[in-house]
Amino acid sequence: MKRWAAFAIVLASLGAALVWCQKTRPQAPVNPDALLFLVADTESELKQLPVAYTRLSDEEEIRIGNQLASSRFLLAGTLDPDDKAVERYVQKVGGNLAVHAERKLPYRFHYLPGDPSIYAFALPGGHIFISAGLMDLMGSEDDLAAVLGHEIEHIDHFHCAERVQTEAALMRIPLGALVALPVEVFEAGYSKDQELEADREGTRLAVMTGYSPFGTVDMLKTLDRLFQEHIVRARTPEEELSRTAEATLEGYFRTYPLTSERIAQIEKMIQNAGWQERTSQRPLEVAYYFKAARARRRLESGKYSEAVKLAEASLRQEPDQPPATATLAAAEFALKQFNQARGLYQSLFSGHPEEAERVVDFALNLASHAIEKSQYADAADYAAHVLDFEPLLPRALVLEAEARFAARDFTGAGEAYRALANKSPNGTGEVIGFAGVLVVRARDEGRTEQAAEYAAHSLELEPYQPGLVETLATIEVTLASFADAAKTFHMLLGWQKDNPSGETMERYADALGAAGNPGAGAVEFQDWFQKVGKPAPALVAESRVEVAGLKLMAGDGGPAHALIFEPGRPESVITYESLGRLGWWYYRAGKYGAAYDVLHNALASRPGEGALSDPLGWVLVEKGEFRDALPRFNEPMGRAVALWLNGEDDKALEAFRLAGKFQPAWSNPGFVRALYSPRVASVVEAMKAEQAQRLRAARR
Ligand SMILES: [Zn+2]
Repeated sequence: MKRWAAFAIVLASLGAALVWCQKTRPQAPVNPDALLFLVADTESELKQLPVAYTRLSDEEEIRIGNQLASSRFLLAGTLDPDDKAVERYVQKVGGNLAVHAERKLPYRFHYLPGDPSIYAFALPGGHIFISAGLMDLMGSEDDLAAVLGHEIEHIDHFHCAERVQTEAALMRIPLGALVALPVEVFEAGYSKDQELEADREGTRLAVMTGYSPFGTVDMLKTLDRLFQEHIVRARTPEEELSRTAEATLEGYFRTYPLTSERIAQIEKMIQNAGWQERTSQRPLEVAYYFKAARARRRLESGKYSEAVKLAEASLRQEPDQPPATATLAAAEFALKQFNQARGLYQSLFSGHPEEAERVVDFALNLASHAIEKSQYADAADYAAHVLDFEPLLPRALVLEAEARFAARDFTGAGEAYRALANKSPNGTGEVIGFAGVLVVRARDEGRTEQAAEYAAHSLELEPYQPGLVETLATIEVTLASFADAAKTFHMLLGWQKDNPSGETMERYADALGAAGNPGAGAVEFQDWFQKVGKPAPALVAESRVEVAGLKLMAGDGGPAHALIFEPGRPESVITYESLGRLGWWYYRAGKYGAAYDVLHNALASRPGEGALSDPLGWVLVEKGEFRDALPRFNEPMGRAVALWLNGEDDKALEAFRLAGKFQPAWSNPGFVRALYSPRVASVVEAMKAEQAQRLRAARR
């Protein structure tokens, strides 16, 4: 392998990329691999080129270097204060080294922050760049001196100047147009001899400046170790390395001479010069900065203990670092060291509110992820402690209310919810929506009682939820809690005011009829209906059918009997659909003969009236006419019962399985007994037993 330089990724400027694409592979995208191919291509071409140039003047070299560097400055953007501190340090170390260089050029050192790629490179005339990814690998100032010394020597020994002239010749562009030259050319593309020379002379420069020659050896070994760990063995090492860093590392080793050769050269040099004792190295003054960055990456990947250690180490070296303090606070929070986290948060709050805000955002994300993972106790804990930092923070109140609600701490959820409603009423919708999701999920997963519990408590938080109330009523019917269901339907009808839906009205009456006292149910139903202002005539007729049905169940057949003779009369508003209901009420009252007459006659007048069909099917089952019953049923449970009674067990069980899927209420005997005949109830039990029996047999 060869040098620090060269690996490179770094996006070429558009102009540079164009020049290169035309020259080499027109279809190739601009990516790290492609750039390395470029270098490889030019190197092989280089060997065929008679290299004999008139040396550039220093002035011209500086001018070209400044042009090339300017595209880099644009890419680098502005540095934040921490990055500036790192750059000042690089400039200080580089400046001390450059004093000992042979050529007296205006050396300038640039730090490229936020770039995890591993590289450094020199441009003609004295510009030297170093990436954050490479600096992150350094253990001492001597390591930095080794890298910068190497790059200075590429300039000092005219490697850069020759490179620029060679490229210009290869591309047939005048030197004046060199601004179009990709700077990547200076990250790779030196010959092996030039690399070894830069290693040698760079190390000499470092020693002359007072650094240890072992900095070079260390850096070469570090790169080699990372290469072995990440690329050769491709295992997940303890030390994280981004994909970009891995790509640059891989490219570096693919293109450059063996590290062993480079290390051997420097070790021999140390031997010959008698530098063996120069082992003492200076600490890297900006190590705190890279430790803090590493701590933050550990935090983001969920390695909180490691993040704490790194952030603490960073802050020991440089205590005044708000970002590192924020990272530490966030990591402590994640580890539930809430007191420590709180102290750090407070230390940030007055002077660096934006860092304090980061801690809170992180903590809120923890709570929100815990909710997503159904870890409700953790989520509630996190949210409650955020509120300890920032009382009444709406987002934290939302998360606390959700977490406590999901964990069925309805008192706690209610407190958070009310605080939220006072502080930020807009936020309550999210909590209610979340509660609705819990209801539906519990219902769909067969946790019916929990679904009802969630729904009831959601209605305590926010009473006006028609959709949820309807869901709750259905759940209560499934649970055979008919008195509760009747109350719930009544609530729903109350919101429908003067225009109640016929279907809700029927379901209300059904629940009243199943709740144990149909006579009282009839009275309750009438009381409610009287409060409906100006009901439409059709609705009045439907209500009469429901009242007649409830009275029929209570033993008073008069009103029902009177209704039967209305259809067909000019003044009648009783529809055939309503007659289907009436037949159903007769069925429920156990008067199968009368039920048959009503439904059969109505169907004769109105063949194909769907509302008459299923009730007639149930009545035919009671009359023992199972084959005739079968085609009447739209609902699978009706077919299952008729098939079973007809001796077709296999088909019956198939229909039974289907019915269980779409009509879960049928698995509750209380529901079946309340709404269907005793015969149906016993058939359902028999099918259930047979199904269980067959399942057991299949498992054996
Ligand atoms: Zn080099």
